Amino acid sequence: MLAAPRPLRAAPPAAELRCVGPQLPRRPFTALHRLLIDPGHGGGEPGTIGVAEIAEKHLVLLIAKRLRDRLHEVDPALEVRLTRSADVDLSLPARAHQANLWNPELFLSLHLNAAPSIEAQGIETLTLAPLGTAPGELVPGREAEGACSVAAEVGVVGDDTAVVLDDLRRAAATNLALVAAELMQQSAVAATGAYDREVKQGRYRVLRGLYMPGIVVEMGFLSHPDEGRLIPLPAWQACTVEALIDGLLRIDATLAKGDYPVASPDASRPTPTAEPAAAPATPPPSPAPTRSIPTQDLP
Ligand SMILES: [Zn+2]
Repeated sequence: MLAAPRPLRAAPPAAELRCVGPQLPRRPFTALHRLLIDPGHGGGEPGTIGVAEIAEKHLVLLIAKRLRDRLHEVDPALEVRLTRSADVDLSLPARAHQANLWNPELFLSLHLNAAPSIEAQGIETLTLAPLGTAPGELVPGREAEGACSVAAEVGVVGDDTAVVLDDLRRAAATNLALVAAELMQQSAVAATGAYDREVKQGRYRVLRGLYMPGIVVEMGFLSHPDEGRLIPLPAWQACTVEALIDGLLRIDATLAKGDYPVASPDASRPTPTAEPAAAPATPPPSPAPTRSIPTQDLP
């Protein structure tokens, strides 16, 4: 007996690009002088691979370069560097170490998302959750995250006082990062019209140890049937780049008002004159434990 023919699956409707457009006029930056953009993953760590079957590591590098080039058009005086400009391995602590050596006002890590549910979509901005204790104090069950181990991650050596001072500096940066994350999230959603997944806080490994505010923007879901097909398109990326610039301009405006103080540059730290070289290949560390983040791909 012949099996009944399977009904043909209808082709999915073509996804339509939604883009509201920039909400702010372009102008030179006034308080943001140095920006380190961190394209997530790279080398042996592809990140997520979604419906378009293009690895996250390639897409975020492309978007990071588009953002860098567009920022140069907006304000040639703004110094912008990438943690990696090629498809190379780069550990998460090495990215934070690069940031601390150069000491930009903001560390901006770019990622694309994935989730078991194909319905998950939209933008979310991640920032570091404070340990919730006094600097140097260990959190029960999280002893491995204590001040000493964090300092060790970013190459700080010294006595206990130095470690505590480093911890204080990081705590201040963490507070400022939450302000920056809110500004970026609001701007990105307003300019793209994307679903607002809000700001989330966790102990993200790439952000631990930073001496300056650091945020991770998860720009969209590669696992979503529509969003995942749009993300590789130049038009989607151009819209997202303008949205990120809106966020950076708002962060800059807040910085300029003075109610968002920046950690003062530390003259004792060397400032490399060239873009830091990629760190030697190391296996990617396992994701940090986080507070109820429903999506995968935690940096
Ligand atoms: Zn990622």
